Amino acid sequence: MQITRPEKHYDLIVVGGGMVGASFSCALAAAIDEEKFSILVIEAVTPDNDLARQSSFDARSTALSYGSGKIFDKMGLWQQLQDAVTLIHQIHVSDKGRLGSVKLSREEHNVDALGYVVQNQDLGHILNSAMEESSIISLLCPASVSSIQAIQNGMSLELVCSEQEFTVDTALVVLADGGKSPVCKQLGIERSVERYDQHALISNIVFEKPHNNIAFERFTDTGPLAVLPLEPIDAKNRGSLVWTLTENEAVEFPNLSEEILLGKLQERFGCRLGKIRAIGEKFVYPLSLSLAKEQIRPGIVLLGNVAHTLHPVAGQGLNLALRDTEVLVDVLSSAWRQSAPLGQMYTLLDYLKRREQDQVQTAQFTHTITQLFSSNNEVKAWLRKFGLIAIELVPRLRRGFAEQAMGLKNRA
Ligand SMILES: Cc1cc2nc3c(=O)[nH]c(=O)nc-3n(C[C@H](O)[C@H](O)[C@H](O)COP(=O)(O)OP(=O)(O)OC[C@H]3O[C@@H](n4cnc5c(N)ncnc54)[C@H](O)[C@@H]3O)c2cc1C
Repeated sequence: MQITRPEKHYDLIVVGGGMVGASFSCALAAAIDEEKFSILVIEAVTPDNDLARQSSFDARSTALSYGSGKIFDKMGLWQQLQDAVTLIHQIHVSDKGRLGSVKLSREEHNVDALGYVVQNQDLGHILNSAMEESSIISLLCPASVSSIQAIQNGMSLELVCSEQEFTVDTALVVLADGGKSPVCKQLGIERSVERYDQHALISNIVFEKPHNNIAFERFTDTGPLAVLPLEPIDAKNRGSLVWTLTENEAVEFPNLSEEILLGKLQERFGCRLGKIRAIGEKFVYPLSLSLAKEQIRPGIVLLGNVAHTLHPVAGQGLNLALRDTEVLVDVLSSAWRQSAPLGQMYTLLDYLKRREQDQVQTAQFTHTITQLFSSNNEVKAWLRKFGLIAIELVPRLRRGFAEQAMGLKNRA
């Protein structure tokens, strides 16, 4: 339910009601499902007024893995979500101007889809409605945290909501306020940041041929370029573009005429979808690998972009955070059933131990392919040519690649 004044105490507080904070809250509410359990979600932007201003629910689309579909199903949200998604039947990975490609298909893996594409605003509406309908979740917005401090058995937070100040306390704060988290800075939690000197240009595009539910990942000398399938509108074939650009291109390209920009895009993407006919509103995001040096403290756990912000190559960020969410919910709901304090280090260490391997491997996977596939260097070009051929031909490598893409690797 949406509220305007918080109570003094909640069993758990989530800071940030974006894709990760909202998904976690809905998942925990579904797992505990007891009226006496209380979750407060503090979100800076009011969803019903301007969802697009919320950093999670802007004009992007997200590729959800097959495994993430199962996680939304567990949360009881798949019914609503499946009407909003476009199925991915095949994934084509190729390297511009070089031999070697990988093609994965749903038939080979015996699933209805390798993954699903959802427009972030549609996901936002579904998650916000679920939070509003829940009697366990209280959604306070627009509100933000002005200070946070440890107290006996938990944390105390000073909040500002509609120019009023409130103090609330809780056993556990789940910090999900994104990669720029001011709360994290206030807590003195440091980050290791590696900038890629790349930006992602995001837009919806219209093209000549039907996409046949294929998601394309194309590697070019300036970085990866992805086109995700979207449902047609007015019989126009549509896709969601994520186009990695250099620093200079990121300044220049959004200001080019549509004709020139489409020419450049066609040259990099090729003719798989026929002529690219139109490009919509464009948004540019700087890209980096940014990892929090601590993810847990007594009474605090970091989730989503605040814990690990990855390059969007291969669509791993939200999918990784959903796998984290699944395990955190499992650990916390068991602690609740055993009447154990939610914020104790023993519980949080159990979560981290179960998630460490997947987090490290997924960050390494995105970092390695970003480095390897964003260069004209001949050695790297040979490595990726043989890498792609090997993934296509060697069953063990192919299975590992497919599991990463489908979000099944290291899943709990
Ligand atoms: C171009 C691009 C494409 C991507 N594509 C994919 C993909 O296809 N598949 C995939 O899995 N991942 C993808 N990702 C990654 C995915 O977008 C992120 O993993 C996801 O947005 C992380 O969500 P979050 O909720 O952690 O953070 P955010 O999206 O940043 O949300 C943070 C929330 O916290 C709120 N907030 C901030 N500060 C405060 C405060 N002080 N108090 C209260 N609330 C606050 C904000 O309003 C916001 O709602 C992509 C990323 C990019 C950049």
